[in-house]
Amino acid sequence: MDASHVEQDLVNVLFTEKQIQDRLGELASEIERDYAGHDLLIVGILRGAVMVMADLARSLSRHVEMDWMAISSYGSGTKSSGVVRILKDLDTDITGRHVLIVDEIIDTGLTLSWLTSNLTSREPASVEICTLLRKPEALQMPVEVKYVGWDIPNEFVVGYGLDYRERYRNLRDIGTLSPHVYS
Ligand code: 5GP
Ligand code: MG
Ligand code: MG
Repeated sequence: MDASHVEQDLVNVLFTEKQIQDRLGELASEIERDYAGHDLLIVGILRGAVMVMADLARSLSRHVEMDWMAISSYGSGTKSSGVVRILKDLDTDITGRHVLIVDEIIDTGLTLSWLTSNLTSREPASVEICTLLRKPEALQMPVEVKYVGWDIPNEFVVGYGLDYRERYRNLRDIGTLSPHVYS
């Protein structure tokens, strides 16, 4: 694999940089409207949500605080099990605060379902979720997502923070990988 030509490994672009920025702008408008008059803390889930956080935050024309969590979910193979461990906790006391979790993709929803109840137990004013992408399977989980960029088919996607073996996070577009990458 030639890492200097990372874009060439994408076989199918699902969302271009422009489409992503436009959609984040729309979500930012909704967030500004919904949280008008309240302070807001957005919490990015490392490492995948780095790009979404950076661009969503800059799409907001209001004040916003940013914090980060890193969590690992144990699972067999590629599916998460819902058994979650905090690798890096918030630096912020969220008691009485309005918290918006920002993630790049929800698959089974197990991770965010766990995280939502964990944060809720800290007695914030509210906890909501914003995700750029959501897979249909997530709809079966008891996790309510307030802001969704797009619902996508059950395919493995990379780019814009999403990795395959820690690569492809730095792609500007989101797409599926060419089969030659996996072989
Ligand atoms: P879940 O919602 O299943 O608990 O966990 C979601 C996590 O699985 C995401 O944060 C991401 O790390 C990973 N994931 C799920 N679907 C995909 C995908 O299509 N592409 C990539 N790169 N990661 C995915
Ligand atoms: Mg994630
Ligand atoms: Mg990953």
